[in-house]
Amino acid sequence: MHICLVNCYSLEIEFNRPVLHRDAFENMLDERDTETQARVECSVVFAKNGGDGYRALLYGDEAQEYEHYDNWNVIHIHGVVVKFDIDRQSSKYLCQKLLFFMTTVKILRCFALLFFAQLSLAQTPVFTQDDTLRGSITPQRAWWDLSFYRLNVKINPAEKSISGSNEIHYKVLFPGKVLQIDLQTPLRFERAEQDGHALAVTQQGQNAYFIELTKEQSKGSQHSLTVWYSGIPREARNAPWDGGFSWKDDGNGQPFVATSCQGLGASVWWPCKDHAYDEPDSQAISVTVPMGLTNVSNGRLRGVREHDDGTHTFDWFVTNPINNYGVNVNIAPYTHFADTFQGEKGLLSLDYYVLPKNLEKAKLQFQQAKLTLQAFEHWFGPYPFYEDGYKLVEVPYLGMEHQSSVTYGNRYVNGYLGQDLSGTGWGLKWDFIIIHESGHEWFANNITYRDIADMWVHESFANYSEGLYTEYHFGKEAGAAYIRGTRSSIENRRPIVGIYGVNSRGSGDMYPKGGNMLHTIRQIVDDDEKWRSILRGLNRDFYHQTVYGSQIEAYIIRNSGKKLEKVFDQYLRNTAIPILEYQITKGKLKYRWSNCVEGFDMPVKVSLSPGKFDFIYPTTKWKSIRCTLPNKDDFQVEENFYVKAMRI
Ligand SMILES: [Zn+2]
Repeated sequence: MHICLVNCYSLEIEFNRPVLHRDAFENMLDERDTETQARVECSVVFAKNGGDGYRALLYGDEAQEYEHYDNWNVIHIHGVVVKFDIDRQSSKYLCQKLLFFMTTVKILRCFALLFFAQLSLAQTPVFTQDDTLRGSITPQRAWWDLSFYRLNVKINPAEKSISGSNEIHYKVLFPGKVLQIDLQTPLRFERAEQDGHALAVTQQGQNAYFIELTKEQSKGSQHSLTVWYSGIPREARNAPWDGGFSWKDDGNGQPFVATSCQGLGASVWWPCKDHAYDEPDSQAISVTVPMGLTNVSNGRLRGVREHDDGTHTFDWFVTNPINNYGVNVNIAPYTHFADTFQGEKGLLSLDYYVLPKNLEKAKLQFQQAKLTLQAFEHWFGPYPFYEDGYKLVEVPYLGMEHQSSVTYGNRYVNGYLGQDLSGTGWGLKWDFIIIHESGHEWFANNITYRDIADMWVHESFANYSEGLYTEYHFGKEAGAAYIRGTRSSIENRRPIVGIYGVNSRGSGDMYPKGGNMLHTIRQIVDDDEKWRSILRGLNRDFYHQTVYGSQIEAYIIRNSGKKLEKVFDQYLRNTAIPILEYQITKGKLKYRWSNCVEGFDMPVKVSLSPGKFDFIYPTTKWKSIRCTLPNKDDFQVEENFYVKAMRI
C-alpha cells in the first residue's frame, strides 16, 4: 500500500494488496463531523474498487470533471482515474459534496496523519510546509481562478536587482476572503492593494503570503489586486535546472541576463499564484531595462517606451494561457531577424533574437526551426500559439521551453552541445535544443501538467518528439533507432511519476524511458495513422489546458482501444522492466511476463516463424503458441518494445 499526500485537502490512496479496508481508512481519518460525511462516501467507493487494486481519491478540486463510459463513471483527479460504480446522478451528487468538503480546514490534521503514514510506508523525502504551500492547491488558491496578469518589472543588471508589481485579475469560483500569493525570498513582498485599499498580508513559511481582502467575495464576481515587490532575486546556480536570474556578460562587457525557473517556480522572480494548475487567459509583461539593451519576453512586442532616467520599457503581450514557468525575461544588446512559416493555421511569424556576434551562425542554424515546425505540425497538429508567434532567443544557458519565446544556448551546433544522446548518429543531424524545446510548445505549453509530479507529460513527449522529428526527415527506422538509442541513459532507480501536492518531480527517466514507453505503445497500437491521430487529438482536445497525467493515460487508452492501464503502471509508476520468460520446445513457444506489476498483460511482437514478427498476448501465467523457428537461437522480441527477454 502506498499513501500519498496530494494536497492539504485531498488524498490519493494507491493500493494493491492488502486492500485497505474501509474501516481502517475511516479510523485513520479520525474525525467525524458533518464534513466527514464526504470522506465516508468516498471511502465507500474506494472500498468497492479496492479489490481490483485501483487507486481512489478523496476529493479533488476538479471533481466536477467526470464522464461516463463503459458502464463506469470516471473522474480524473489529482493524477488518478477514479471509477465510480454508481449511476451518473449520484456521482454528480458526490462531487458536489466533495466540493463542500474542500472548504474545511480540519483536514490539515488529516494531512499530518497521512503524511507520517506515508513516511512509515516508503522511504520518501521529507516535505515541509513550504513544499505544501508551493505544491498543492491550497484553500487560499482554490476559490479564485486566474484570468490575467499585468506584470511590470524593472531590472537593474549593474546591481542585480529588480523591482515591480503584478496586477492579478481573477474570477471568484466560490466565496473566499484570503488569497495566497507566492514570492520567494530574498525578494521582499512590499504591499498589496485592492480597489485603493491596502490589504493585510501575512507571510506563511518562507515564500507564501496570505492576503486578507476587506470582505468575502461572491461567486462569479471578478476582481483584481496589485502586489508590489523588490530586491535581489535568487541567482541561478545551474540554469535552467537550478534556476533564477542568470547575470552574465555577452563577452563584450554588456549584460546578458535571463530567467529560468521550472520546478523552482516563477515566484523566484515575480509574485504570482505559483502552481501549475491555474493559468491566466492572457498576460502583459512590461520590462524596463537600461537603454542600449533589449528585453525579449513572451508573446508579441506591442511597443517600447523611453524614459528620462536612461531606461526604456518593452511591452510584451501574450494572448494565450501561459504556464508561469514559461514567462521569462531575456536581456542583451540583441540583434533581431525574422522569417515566416506557412503552416496549418496560416502564416506564422518567426522572430529570432541573438547576440550580434552570432548573427551569421544563427541565420544558418535557425533554419532548423522551420523543419521543426513542419515535422511537429505533421505529428501534433498546428503550432498552438500562432497569435503569439514563434521565437528563438539566445540565452547564456542551454535552453528552455519558454512559451512562444523558446530560449536557446546550444552554441549553434547540432546534437546536445555537440553530443548525440542516442549514440546512433541520428542525434547529430539536428540541433537538440531547437527540436526538444520546440516540441514542448505542444507538450508543456499547450498541454501543461497540473502537478509537476506528472512532468512526464512534458518530457516523455518532448523526448519522443526528437524521435518523431528524426522519423519525419530521415525515415521511420531512423526515428526508431534514435529512440531505442536513448535507452542507454535510463536508470530505473525511481519511478517517473513524482509525489503529488508537494512540488516533487519524478525521476529523470521521464525523458528516455518515457519516450521509449510511448514508442512501445505505438508498437501496440500498430497503426501509424491512428497513433498520429492520437498525438494530434491530445493537442486538440486538451488545447491550452492543464492536465493530470491520468487524463493523458485515459485518452490514449480510450482512443487506441487498447488495454494500456498496466503498461502505464509498469513504466510510469514502477522501476522494473518486464521480462518475457520463454522456452521453445517441440515447435511450441511457452511464454509469460515476469518482473512486472501484478496483472501485466502487454502484447508484444516476437518471431514465431522465420523472417517475421507476430503479436503474442502474454500475461504473468504461462501460455503457449506454435512456433516454427528452425533454430531456438533465432527467437527475438521485436526491438522497438522496451522489454527484456530471458530463455529459461
Ligand atoms: Zn524538456
